[in-house]
Amino acid sequence: MIDEVRSWIEAARRVVVLSGAGISTDSGIPDFRGPQGLWTKNPLAEKMSNIHYYLADPEVRKLSWQNRLSSPAWHAKPNAGHSALVFLERRNKLHALITQNIDELHQIAGNSPEKVIEVHGTMRRFMCWGCGMRGPMQVVLERVRAGEADPPCRDCGGILKSDTISFGQQLVPEVIDRAMRVAAEADMFFAVGSSLQVYPVAETVSIARRAGARVVIVNAEATPFDELAHAVFNDSISAVLPRLCTA
Ligand SMILES: [Zn+2]
Repeated sequence: MIDEVRSWIEAARRVVVLSGAGISTDSGIPDFRGPQGLWTKNPLAEKMSNIHYYLADPEVRKLSWQNRLSSPAWHAKPNAGHSALVFLERRNKLHALITQNIDELHQIAGNSPEKVIEVHGTMRRFMCWGCGMRGPMQVVLERVRAGEADPPCRDCGGILKSDTISFGQQLVPEVIDRAMRVAAEADMFFAVGSSLQVYPVAETVSIARRAGARVVIVNAEATPFDELAHAVFNDSISAVLPRLCTA
């Protein structure tokens, strides 16, 4: 099957990749829902990722800032799975990289920022709920380190959070529209490390399939889209992806 997928990539001109948490677990960033997941281990974490609790409760925000400070993502390095996708771009195959991840490991690995569509935003930026101002997250984390438990916006006094889509929060329409559009333009589609259970992002798989793309799923566990895929690998992403994507 590996050789077959390699030949599909060889023939493809517009590969679109959808990546989820599974590609970053080998970089030491825990998944939310998996058996080792954040929510499974700490139910309070689910509260912290819900926008309603976050805006309503200063205690939830204080905990969230402490969590952001100690996030393993700050020290995480891209793994062989990320590198394989950089290689795909260097081969001029990569049309777009839709990601559900907020860690920016694709860009750090070397994918062009303009190829990456971050449907859930990025943890490396903050945003103000009051005035919409955005900036580097490290600036706010410095204030937390210096003793501000829940730092307000310096412009408007509003509540700050990471520039990510929390639960209960709307996706950014232009971003999700772009994801749907590139999926329809794909002649090959990879879903990598995503459980494909979050909508509407998961729909990119069926959009690509309907547009005639070859669909390949690489994920540790089965997904609801396995039956419409041309190939499924239930295996380690950092092991499989380099074998598929390197020339
Ligand atoms: Zn503000």
